[in-house]
Amino acid sequence: MDLTDEEKKVLLGKGYVAQKDGLHFACRIAMPGGKMTARQGEKVADLSVKYGQGYYTFTQRLNVEIPWIQYQDLDNLAKELKEVGLAPGSTGRRVRPVLVCKGSLCKFGLLDTESIAQKLDERFYQGFYDVALPNKLRIVVSGCGNGCSKPQLGCIGLQGRQPDKVAVIIQGMFGKEKLVGRELPGLFSLSEAMEIIEKAIFIYREKGIAGERFAKMVERIGFESIANSLLGLD
Ligand code: SF4
Repeated sequence: MDLTDEEKKVLLGKGYVAQKDGLHFACRIAMPGGKMTARQGEKVADLSVKYGQGYYTFTQRLNVEIPWIQYQDLDNLAKELKEVGLAPGSTGRRVRPVLVCKGSLCKFGLLDTESIAQKLDERFYQGFYDVALPNKLRIVVSGCGNGCSKPQLGCIGLQGRQPDKVAVIIQGMFGKEKLVGRELPGLFSLSEAMEIIEKAIFIYREKGIAGERFAKMVERIGFESIANSLLGLD
């Protein structure tokens, strides 16, 4: 089926990534905290056989993609994913599902990253799903200073420094252009960090230019100015 670039862009915003053959889509499935139950895993495997070519892949941010889906099967695939509590997503100019390390299980973990991922996804990925932003906004959490999930490269990073106390890092970015994020002064409780994240989303929505990444907006306006706004010091 021939689709226009505009139609493909709309589908991309819903979690369907057009493949380079121009015919098929990879269905990206948001996996909160990178966690998939056995039942969900079985369903994803079954659907990859039913609609794709019998395999699925993991993205860098621990979501799942089933490639080789035909356009006419996208709706049915989404309906079947819903049966196990999953949905296409994790694309578009919005807050993306949070990326976390294995801090809940890891011996170095100072944070319960699994439950933090759930809280952050509920409040910011699902809660802000219909809030259009200038570009994607990535939140990254690591359970300790080792930073396995690379919070310094997320738009907003949280890093465990003491039990249940995090550093908040902003202005990271990794792509064609790369920026290493900078820390806000001090350490924060999770609820304080969540308030900072919410403020950052509103500032980005208000002051970001269409297409501009969060880090580039911070660079343009100035780290100190944004940091003061986030900390209520302006
Ligand atoms: S960042 Fe720390 S807590 Fe998280 S997986 Fe790495 S070592 Fe473990």
